[in-house]
Amino acid sequence: MESIEVVTKNYKETKKLGEKLAKEIAISHKRALIISLEGELGAGKTTFTQGFAKGLGIKETPKSPTFVIMRIYKLNKSNRSDKIVEFENFIHIDAYRIASKDLKSLGWNELVSGPQNIILIEWGDRVKSLLPKNALRIIFEHGHSGSRLIKTIQ
Ligand code: ADP
Ligand code: MG
Repeated sequence: MESIEVVTKNYKETKKLGEKLAKEIAISHKRALIISLEGELGAGKTTFTQGFAKGLGIKETPKSPTFVIMRIYKLNKSNRSDKIVEFENFIHIDAYRIASKDLKSLGWNELVSGPQNIILIEWGDRVKSLLPKNALRIIFEHGHSGSRLIKTIQ
């Protein structure tokens, strides 16, 4: 994927960006896809994730999974948009309160090696040593008057 650097003016634009990237990335990608979302509290990671899920055709709206750590959404025929045929699961993780060993005990190694998984992990920088080398990192920064700077690092 091309690198991006975008300023969003409000939460709707951040959500739209997630939706757009989900479609672009998931269609062009053929293997397990790991995306680390990084930035302070309130920077827009969950908002982006909600748009991303929508872009994949998921009907539910992901909430911040801080208290459950991980949620798995099945991309079955009924909730998957037509073009995304390679993937079976959309997995949303929040690493805010966990350490690498906790993530490992959640089965991280199996999840990241499954070619059928798309994983968005909020606070991925907190478990950096477990991120695969080819993980896409998206950084969220607060800007002036409700804006956010959102950029990729590869
Ligand atoms: P995080 O998951 O990074 O902690 P959230 O997405 O949960 O952040 O929260 C972002 C908050 O900031 C929401 O309340 C949202 O409405 C607000 N907000 C304001 N401007 C923006 C913007 N440009 N992009 C994303 N969220 C924004
Ligand atoms: Mg969040």
